[in-house]
Amino acid sequence: MAKSKNLEDQDLPGFEALPTQDRVETNSQNKKKKSSGGFQSMGFSFQVLKGITKRGYKQPTPIQRKTIPLALDGKDVVAMARTGSGKTACFVLPILEKLIAPTNKPMPGKNLRALILSPTRELALQTLKFVRELGKFTGLTSAAILGGESIEQQFSIMSGAVPDIVVATPGRFLHICIEMNFKLDNIKMMVFDEADRLFELGFGEQLREIVARLPTSRQTLLFSATMPKMLVEFARAGLTDPMLIRLDVDWKLPSTLWLGWISVRAELKTAALLLLLDKVLSPRTPQAVVFVATKHHVEYLNLILQQAGITSTYAYSGLDPTARKIALGRFINKKCSVLIVTDVAARGLDLPALDTVINYNFPATPKLFVHRVGRSARAGRAGRAFSLVAAEDVAHLLDLHLFLGAELLLPTQVKEKGDLCPSGVWGAMPTGALELRHQDIVAWERNHSEIEEAVRTCSRGWQQYIKWRESASSEANKRAKCTPAPVHTHPYLDDTSDGANDLVERIKNYTPNKGTILELDVKNDSPMYMAMKAKKKAHGKAVQQTRENKKLMAEGKLLDINLNNISKKKKKEVKRDENYIPHQASDEHTEAGMAGRKMIRTESGGRVPASFRSGRYDEWRKRNAPDQRDNDDTEDNASRGSGNAPKPVSEFRPRWVKHNERVAKKKAEASPKEFRNKQQIVKERLRKEKLKQKLKFKSKHKKKKRK
Ligand code: AMP
Repeated sequence: MAKSKNLEDQDLPGFEALPTQDRVETNSQNKKKKSSGGFQSMGFSFQVLKGITKRGYKQPTPIQRKTIPLALDGKDVVAMARTGSGKTACFVLPILEKLIAPTNKPMPGKNLRALILSPTRELALQTLKFVRELGKFTGLTSAAILGGESIEQQFSIMSGAVPDIVVATPGRFLHICIEMNFKLDNIKMMVFDEADRLFELGFGEQLREIVARLPTSRQTLLFSATMPKMLVEFARAGLTDPMLIRLDVDWKLPSTLWLGWISVRAELKTAALLLLLDKVLSPRTPQAVVFVATKHHVEYLNLILQQAGITSTYAYSGLDPTARKIALGRFINKKCSVLIVTDVAARGLDLPALDTVINYNFPATPKLFVHRVGRSARAGRAGRAFSLVAAEDVAHLLDLHLFLGAELLLPTQVKEKGDLCPSGVWGAMPTGALELRHQDIVAWERNHSEIEEAVRTCSRGWQQYIKWRESASSEANKRAKCTPAPVHTHPYLDDTSDGANDLVERIKNYTPNKGTILELDVKNDSPMYMAMKAKKKAHGKAVQQTRENKKLMAEGKLLDINLNNISKKKKKEVKRDENYIPHQASDEHTEAGMAGRKMIRTESGGRVPASFRSGRYDEWRKRNAPDQRDNDDTEDNASRGSGNAPKPVSEFRPRWVKHNERVAKKKAEASPKEFRNKQQIVKERLRKEKLKQKLKFKSKHKKKKRK
């Protein structure tokens, strides 16, 4: 693989890297680590572990296994990981764990203890969801501060009972800090998520400004898919002796190994295997190993391959050692093209270097996958591993990708076809050819009682196997439900020429632009034709213009269709009544115009847009002053007043917190001083009486149950 221009593939100067053996783990070392590598052994407290289990995580992903212990240890970390590797939990879990520690008790009015900066609203919201789900049992509060949302609501979030954790986009967060003179001196943990994108989107200045406001004692975690120079410098300045963590997939899979994922319906797997073998077996790559789930599959497939005229041999663990040796000998001596094996049998076989591995049945665990395909592409040789993926395997496929830290590509994301197709694509089988091959198999099964019997045993064996197969993580199962199987043919198997594809594409995009349905096959003097003619005369140009604008918008050359000047009529000013709530944020234009605005210097020496100190917070505070509960102990504390702050809109409050609040409110209401008239006193007595009876009834009910 060519070295990238940025610093991805090198040790980063100024960073402490993990010891080499940690990066290039051998299988045996890995084994040792695995047995103690679960979330339980990481030292999480019960509340956090409960959140992890509830979210459906069984095992930590490789990046989690490397990052979490360091983060829990209080180290600053720079981790090179991208979305899909499980990176979010790498910082969310340590944050939760640290914030519930008794040593990290929140200070009154200075609740904000962890800040996560994300480049986009979508990512921030997704992260907030993780924080809330994983932290469900911690009682910690969290909120999002995002650009494009009402700043006034955010004033309210940040001025009441400030949440423990804030996920924010940098521009808006800094804006809030400056407007509100919000202090960040109780921040314990700071996370830069997708830091390379933060810089790409031009948040550099804001990030530096935010860092300058943080206490030096904080712990900083930085996650980035790439490590451009600018980011290295930023990390070196903002982090203390950071540990660099990279996900080296190499120890698991050779880089010369090509992976292909073939989506197919379970009942068509055999047909798919035959098609795949037709394509794969060639004078250059004459042999392949096929992995199956049970010995019944071995026997069944062996019969099928015989029918298909493909020479094969097989091994399973029940076979006596001599038979196995003979079978293997035939394959090693190139007397046959295919070796069909189960995992158990393969363990004891000393297979030669292989060109092609096919997973007929998807391996139950990532480890098994690595074992199987690791037989290919040895010692720098190129190799290929195909896996047939039925609907029931999708969750395992997703888990495997987490484990590998690899990306699943869809056929539409790659251009190259056939042998040039890149590794990692998940595509479908060509349906026409698949159906034809399936017809052959159905006929063989019908005409040969031996095969018919094998099919029956095979399906019984499969039912047993499925019962015992290690299930995928429940998170992956959830994701699998909303991951549609690819419909496009896998580019490796796609033989249709570009010309044919172009034609299909053109047919798909064809729209008759001459005439509407009303004008088809009608005479020139028919009323429908005349009506359309009149319509075109009146609106033809406008319609044409709208079409062109839509096209431009689709290409991204035009931002808003309303920008066109088809209708130059001025819109009547509508007078809104005072209760009208606009669907855009009131500060939408302020936000949009932020770029290129006048800048001001801050105390830390940085530059921020002048609009960040617009006085909007002061105005808001004046309006909301009587209702403000302000527990900030900064110098302007007194001026903020106190009382009941409006509830932060997106602040997370667990059910029990709400319950306690309700009880406290009721208690306060029940205070005898507040009942000023007779009616109120009577009402209260009745309420108490009712409550007493309720309790009595409950305790009776309980006693009965116990009996
Ligand atoms: P991320 O890279 O953080 O966006 O995570 C990608 C997906 O993997 C998310 O749907 C996570 O919920 C899921 N995930 C993260 N860690 C694990 C784990 N240890 N086990 C199973 N799924 C996980």
